[in-house]
Amino acid sequence: MSTLLRKFKLFLETTQDIFAHAIEYGHLLDNQKAINRLKTCNKCQYFMQSTQQCNRCGCFMFMKARLAATKCPENKWENE
Ligand code: SF4
Repeated sequence: MSTLLRKFKLFLETTQDIFAHAIEYGHLLDNQKAINRLKTCNKCQYFMQSTQQCNRCGCFMFMKARLAATKCPENKWENE
C-alpha cells in the first residue's frame, strides 16, 4: 500500500473515531446550526472551495462544522 493511501486510510479511521465519540457523547451540532456555520465559511476569504477546507486551520469544514466544540479561528461563527 502506498504512503499516500496509508495516510488517507488513517485519516478516514481517525475521522470515524472522532464522529463516533461525538455521537456517543452528544457533541454533534444540530443541522441548522451546522448549516449556518457552513454558510459563513462559504462567504469567507479563507474557505477553499476546491477542497472544502479552511485555509486558516486546514480542517475540512463539512466535518468540523458538525462538531459542537470546534471554533472558527477567526471567530466568525460567534453569531450562530
Ligand atoms: S472556519 Fe472561520 S476562518 Fe475558516 S473558513 Fe470558516 S469562517 Fe473562515
